[in-house]
Amino acid sequence: GTGTPMLELHDVHTYYGHIHALKGITMTVNEGEIVALIGGNGAGKTTTLRTISGMMKPRSGALSYQGKTIAGIPAHHIMQMGISHVPEGRRIFPQLTVRENLDVGAYTVTDKATVEARVQEGFGYFPRLKEREHQVGGTMSGGEQQMLAIARALMVAPKLLLLDEPSMGLSPLFVEAIFDIVQKLNSEHGTTVLLVEQNANMALQIAHRAYVMQTGEIKLSGIASDIAQDESVRKAYLGDE
Ligand code: ATP
Repeated sequence: GTGTPMLELHDVHTYYGHIHALKGITMTVNEGEIVALIGGNGAGKTTTLRTISGMMKPRSGALSYQGKTIAGIPAHHIMQMGISHVPEGRRIFPQLTVRENLDVGAYTVTDKATVEARVQEGFGYFPRLKEREHQVGGTMSGGEQQMLAIARALMVAPKLLLLDEPSMGLSPLFVEAIFDIVQKLNSEHGTTVLLVEQNANMALQIAHRAYVMQTGEIKLSGIASDIAQDESVRKAYLGDE
């Protein structure tokens, strides 16, 4: 990373009705970084991503992206500012082909040549999708659908990619492929990534820094390799006895 803050959350509180899901989240993602957000079930990781992408509105706190406040700004606006969110459970359009899914992802991009260039770029990252350009999305494997969900999110050429559990339900080979591509996108393309993962081991291997969440709060943060060595983290999230 360059050390320039791209995304900053300060004391962010988000609720589902009366359920207090985020209890004062403060975190920074610098330009060029991969930041991992790890933690157990119900910790608030997904809610953090939803709050950043505008799917949910924080009740209080400050949220800024490239120096501009984004709290309360509609999701489609935030996307146009360069933040793309791949939600949990790879929500592709199952009746549409791979190509059609990508075209839908690019609906805000008006220039046809730009769309075509980005489709080809996506096929470069995911050759599997090129082979299956005309296959209906819903008939692809889980891993292929995850690739498609990421490729679709890239159609808007995001500066910041929010990835929610990209490894969920995938075989080890696919998990590795997905993580490789995330790393490549970051190192070769300069895309900044905020990565939510239950698979903390893998996430900490590709991340520069990490935040550990528990019951709506940040419990620990630091350099990913240090977090991976932390005894409490190892016990809680990395399967150490
Ligand atoms: P997981 O790893 O299990 O997906 P998470 O860290 O992503 O968990 P969130 O999904 O952000 O956690 O949930 C945070 C808290 O908010 C949990 O207590 C959860 O039950 C609650 N919550 C999430 N979505 C809703 C909702 N739609 N309505 C009410 N409560 C919700």
